[in-house]
Amino acid sequence: MNQKIAGQVSLEDLSRICPTISRRTHPDFGEGCGFEVEVGTVRFGTGVPVVIAGPCAVESERQMIELALSVKSAGADMLRGGAYKPRTSPHDFQGLGLEGLKILRAASDLTGLPVVTEVMDVRLVGLVSQYADMLQIGSRSMQNYPLLVEAGRSGKPVLLKRGMAASLCEWLGAAEYIANEGNLNIVLCERGIKTHTAGEYSRYALDLNVVPAVHAETFLPVIVDPSHATGVASRVEPASRAAIEFGSDGLMIEVSHWERDSDMPRPLCDADQAITPETLGTIVDFIRERETAAQCKNDPTMCSARYSRASGR
Ligand code: PEP
Ligand code: MN
Repeated sequence: MNQKIAGQVSLEDLSRICPTISRRTHPDFGEGCGFEVEVGTVRFGTGVPVVIAGPCAVESERQMIELALSVKSAGADMLRGGAYKPRTSPHDFQGLGLEGLKILRAASDLTGLPVVTEVMDVRLVGLVSQYADMLQIGSRSMQNYPLLVEAGRSGKPVLLKRGMAASLCEWLGAAEYIANEGNLNIVLCERGIKTHTAGEYSRYALDLNVVPAVHAETFLPVIVDPSHATGVASRVEPASRAAIEFGSDGLMIEVSHWERDSDMPRPLCDADQAITPETLGTIVDFIRERETAAQCKNDPTMCSARYSRASGR
């Protein structure tokens, strides 16, 4: 049967769908060679994974500041936290809005860690850009094309999460909308996809196969969010390790103090997937140890300079 189907695309079409970011149209980027995205002092795509950590949502100044200090001492490179939250019900906590942005800025300034936060509304791109170092486009907004265009025009680096049912072609097509505005500072983020089992034993299905596929098709960096992908705190650490083994350029992880500090309230959003700062420290140690081991392989004199969290990186 030779029936043509409207809208059907395959990876072979990527040079037409996303010529600005496709390796197919940029053979100049050699294999294993990618574009580095800078967010303040942090660089994605260098081969050293970047760790972004923080709460699901900014809920109070105390919560955000204490967490920011904890994730910094655990070794995180960047902060996260939602001021505008995409929630299933309009009756659920929607985020602190502008107050949340101000708290995020204060936490970032205090720790020196750049901050990423979600923007859902095309009308708020300018405002969020004033406070954030990087704009996050969430899974539900991946195909909001006017929002992608506006994020591209903002000139801010953009973290583009994969739509929960998006193919690789659709995801890279979305990235092209940002790149088409002259903004190549895009980091892709795999966060789990919907399959027939979603919600049965995990929140989504973590698609690690997409990491090498992204690297094969575009020179943009790709990170993994093991928190939303699993929805289960105890699985975040193994999923993080697996993501790094698959070549992820970083991780975005939700962290909370609530299980450790009895006077810290249970998060209003995604409490069951939040790990403690201690577990975050274990994940960071895994990454840094792995990095050092790789360096030792190339340069045996490096072995005496093994990473230790106490002495910094
Ligand atoms: C988030 O990271 O805060 C978030 C809402 O994730 P996602 O868009 O992947 O659901
Ligand atoms: Mn969340």
